[in-house]
Amino acid sequence: MKNIVFLLCCCANLLYAQQTDYVDFKEVKTVLAFNQMKVDSTVFNSYEIKFDVLKQTDSVYLDAINMQFSNVALNKSKVKFKNDGKKLIIYHGFKASKTYTLNFLFFTSPKKAMYFIDWDNEDAITSSYSDINRNTVQKKQIWTQGQGKYTSHWLPSIDDMNDKIEFDISCVALKGYEVISNGKMVSKRETPTYNLWEFDMEKPMSSYLVALVIGKYSKNVEYSKSGIPLEMYYYPEDSLKFEPTYRYTKQMFDFLEAEIGVPYPWQNYKQVPVKDFLYAGMENTSATIFSDSFVIDSTAFADKNYVNVNAHELAHQWFGDLVTETSGTHHWLQEGFATYYALLAERDIFGEDYYYWQLYEYAQELLDQDKAGGSTSLLDPKSSSTTFYKKGAWVLHLLRERVGDKAFKMAVKNYLKKYAYKNVETENFITEVEKVSGEDLTDFVELWLKNKAFNYDEALNSLKKSTYMQEYLMVDCEVYTSKCSNYLTSGISDEAKIKVISQLPSQIKKEDFKNSLKVRQAIARNVSKIPSELKTEYESLLNDKSYVTIETALFILWQNFPQERQKYFEKTKDIHGFSDKNVRMLWLALQLVSPDLDDKNKREYFSELTRYTSPQFGFEVRQNAFQYLHQIQACRDVCKENLKQATKHHNWRFQKFAKALSEKETP
Ligand SMILES: [Zn+2]
Repeated sequence: MKNIVFLLCCCANLLYAQQTDYVDFKEVKTVLAFNQMKVDSTVFNSYEIKFDVLKQTDSVYLDAINMQFSNVALNKSKVKFKNDGKKLIIYHGFKASKTYTLNFLFFTSPKKAMYFIDWDNEDAITSSYSDINRNTVQKKQIWTQGQGKYTSHWLPSIDDMNDKIEFDISCVALKGYEVISNGKMVSKRETPTYNLWEFDMEKPMSSYLVALVIGKYSKNVEYSKSGIPLEMYYYPEDSLKFEPTYRYTKQMFDFLEAEIGVPYPWQNYKQVPVKDFLYAGMENTSATIFSDSFVIDSTAFADKNYVNVNAHELAHQWFGDLVTETSGTHHWLQEGFATYYALLAERDIFGEDYYYWQLYEYAQELLDQDKAGGSTSLLDPKSSSTTFYKKGAWVLHLLRERVGDKAFKMAVKNYLKKYAYKNVETENFITEVEKVSGEDLTDFVELWLKNKAFNYDEALNSLKKSTYMQEYLMVDCEVYTSKCSNYLTSGISDEAKIKVISQLPSQIKKEDFKNSLKVRQAIARNVSKIPSELKTEYESLLNDKSYVTIETALFILWQNFPQERQKYFEKTKDIHGFSDKNVRMLWLALQLVSPDLDDKNKREYFSELTRYTSPQFGFEVRQNAFQYLHQIQACRDVCKENLKQATKHHNWRFQKFAKALSEKETP
């Protein structure tokens, strides 16, 4: 899982670990029929599970939260069972070395782990707003998130990730809706109003990786070099955003298969954007779900693209899905590896300098964490995501330097092959590296895995192998000022120039605007008082293919040259920006605080900005709208009502934001 803020650790899984000593669940076949006319209710779900009994026992259970059961049968005979609201427990004299089949019907109204989006606010959408965007923002979807939430909220399963099961999901959905789940879609049976979608998995997985999405989608399919179908879903109205969103997907897939040295372990690879997702992306087996805020146009690509998250979730298909941690203690085997391999895939596209730059940024973040006293061991299940993801990636980078490319790659390959479709601990990986390299890694494990602190000096020494990094570290206008006036017209890297601009924003000259998009963005961000001789150059920033640059430049120009405001508004009136409408929101807010705005426009702009607070928009849009309305003290009745609703939103980050803002707003 790639998380924007931090990862909720899910280490309670071992609570009932003992059942894996007695029972090995093998295969689930289920047919799900959610009532899609009404929110969060299901009718008639059938379920069959096969399992081997390893040691004699008098009961087995499945995790199943707040469900009802009927027609419960073991090997086709009625059987005694108990439903305690958390588990379905089956009582029987189970004998060792025997295989059993359990069947039942179940009913559920999941409150977590399965989310019903826009299913209950249709009335609000059709009656309250005559919104031009109505058809494009309403997203009736059902989607799931198992990690950190437990799949057992919507599907009887095993919360313990140490029991891997082959899940074959079938699902009934209204016509016009696509269904996406794990594995291969083997048939779609049609009736006049519903379709039955049947999926087949060939290999087992942990329950937290089971996924289901129902929604309106189009899809494009490409094939990897090895012949794996890469199915890329998008909203039908987003066909122009398809290419920038999924740019480099096939290249990264082919790269990772070759780099890892073990064939992609599943039948196909699907990626599906959903509205109001909880994280950036989630690596469900063969079916990654990601936030639709990564669905972007080609201008947004420069600042906010899906490439890193795309590579990260793909890497998890091996590291996390094929081999899975036994517990949170070994979480870095998933997140550290996914972060590191995503970086390797990006190096293949953007080059070596990019790779070192990212490592440098990770090191800065780890150093900051260290200084704040927040460092923890990589093997501490309560570590921060900075530790799991970024220190984890650093450990792999340094381990590879220590044992060499060849030994590192061989060890990873051996590790994946040996533990395929099983669970792993840190020692399993280290042992493979020691075996192949012939090195004793005790000191390395002590310093980098067990030790709390991040060894910044050693990391910096590794970075200095890059001449690009040497140059970056050397360029410093706070320490050496003699060359600073010429740096921005010299051939130094963009990152070094950006550093110079942040140190000396007052010394920007006309010719410095002739730099790249990124350097010009740094000028936009750092120069807040525009000297009149730079006015024309600064205005040219509004033409840049970057929504960050345009947003920043619009605000600064509006501040610096009040007499020219109409010109700037006119130039940017059709730009919405990222999917969170960053440019449009600023435009509306600035209009509303401009003193010469007439009443008619004022009403129109105010109602547009207010409309963006409504639940039909994604939470990123709403968050921006709430923030601006609060800042200009214009969060009135409709806005307040929507804010109140937002304090109960399923996305905890947005909920937290809404609660904090509610406290600041007068009731
Ligand atoms: Zn991840």
